[in-house]
Amino acid sequence: MYLKHLTWRETEQYLQQKQSIIMPIGSHEQHGPNGMIGTDIICPVRVAEDLSQETGILIGPSIEVGMAQHHLGFAGSITVRPTTLILIIEDYVKSLAKHGFTHFFFLNGHGGNIATVKAAFAEIHAEASLGRAPVQQPELELVLHNWYQGRRVTEMSNRYFPGIEGSHATPSEISLTFHAYPEHTKPAVPMEPRVARGGSFGSAVDYRRKFPDGRIGSDPSGATAKIGAELCQAAVTDALDALRYREFL
Ligand SMILES: [Zn+2]
Repeated sequence: MYLKHLTWRETEQYLQQKQSIIMPIGSHEQHGPNGMIGTDIICPVRVAEDLSQETGILIGPSIEVGMAQHHLGFAGSITVRPTTLILIIEDYVKSLAKHGFTHFFFLNGHGGNIATVKAAFAEIHAEASLGRAPVQQPELELVLHNWYQGRRVTEMSNRYFPGIEGSHATPSEISLTFHAYPEHTKPAVPMEPRVARGGSFGSAVDYRRKFPDGRIGSDPSGATAKIGAELCQAAVTDALDALRYREFL
């Protein structure tokens, strides 16, 4: 159930029952030889849809483009700077808080967003702590949940892709995109080397030099929609645990 499909009166009615909202956040960036540019937003949106079905919690507007400066050496990648992303998150949260939303579950698909999302949360809390938040703004519960790091998802990734999951263009996230968009499933592509090297990076130039086909530490050639469907279910169960733990349910 998406906020964008409700009327304002239906939104008021929803708020009388619940004050929670799921906010998918991801990225548009290269995902190696067989991964879609939108992998990091496709995955959390797909998980959010099942999670919303299970809980009745609304899905808010996706933040489709994240902090991905290091991927700009590859066609199709887009970044917003950390300062921009902080402002986007702040403005979305404060707009929704004005209407009575108090519990925000940011369902994230991109590791590069983590530091910035946490900084945005700190900015919002700091305003309240310093006494600058609007008087009527209630206490806000801001949660960041990375779907790919849940306990069940991690166990499943280790079982299906031992030693080849890596940290970027992983077989798990690519499987989930094939489940979400079977019509866009990519044909098998030879990976050279079969398992990409690991390591860290700085700028986009540095990244492209170290990781020429875009992967880090992974072999995503075994990604399938069937595994993606199982991972999606595991991710929903992991997210339900997080929602219960943070008293959204
Ligand atoms: Zn990714």
